[in-house]
Amino acid sequence: MSYAFMRFPHFKELAFTLSYDDGVPADKRLAEIFNKNGLKCTFNLNGETADTVGRYPIEEVKKTYLPAGHEVALHGACHYSLGEIPDTVLIDNIMKNRKALEECFGVVVTGSAYANGSYDDRVVELLKTCGVTYARTIRSTHSFEIPEDWLRLHPTCHHKDPQLMELAETFLKGGNKRHFFYHRPQLFYLWGHSYEFDNDDNWQLIEDFCAFIGGREDVWYATNGEIYEYVQAYNALQYSADGHLVKNPTAIDVYIHYFGKPYKICAGETVRLEK
Ligand SMILES: [Zn+2]
Repeated sequence: MSYAFMRFPHFKELAFTLSYDDGVPADKRLAEIFNKNGLKCTFNLNGETADTVGRYPIEEVKKTYLPAGHEVALHGACHYSLGEIPDTVLIDNIMKNRKALEECFGVVVTGSAYANGSYDDRVVELLKTCGVTYARTIRSTHSFEIPEDWLRLHPTCHHKDPQLMELAETFLKGGNKRHFFYHRPQLFYLWGHSYEFDNDDNWQLIEDFCAFIGGREDVWYATNGEIYEYVQAYNALQYSADGHLVKNPTAIDVYIHYFGKPYKICAGETVRLEK
């Protein structure tokens, strides 16, 4: 079975995602740049009631962010460092934030980014209890590997990383593995805060980066949650004992390469694989 490899939708081998925190007014300008280039972002928002989500008119967010394909995720009711607060306060902080976002946007919210990058094993267990499925850290990996531990989801880099453009070029060439016939798909995961572009007076940096990485046929642009759900669907595939039949028990169409041949395994279907 080691010769079946996940592909992203439509057999793409590359995926790109974004994660921006804190829900500040500059998010609007950033979202417009993402929209122009066909990029999808997960916006991590604080707030403990539907009226206090983000620091901008929420109606605007509803009208512009979600219809453009972006996603909202948790960042704590208050911007607490989760590693530093008691269990009860942590659970209250996450669940209030979750209820606020769900009431505000009418969607199920299970994604998260750690405020101040603060987490430990205890925090991860408590987030699981709160129904959180993925949570982003602030530890840059400079890697394009598909995450395995989604509650310790490490980004490729921050937008201020000196190697940002170099990493983007390597990624678009297929990471470090395209030369090899059997290879894993690659994910570029970028994070930051939109207010940093105001503080650093460098909006041109993200304009240039998005124009470079966006609009490419061979890249799947998706939110954190879409990628998470797709990878879960791939992991849920069931193979026959001889490996020639594969069943997709999920509601998501899954694409694979089997001994180099492309197969689309539609939601609910069983497909025969030939070498
Ligand atoms: Zn934050």
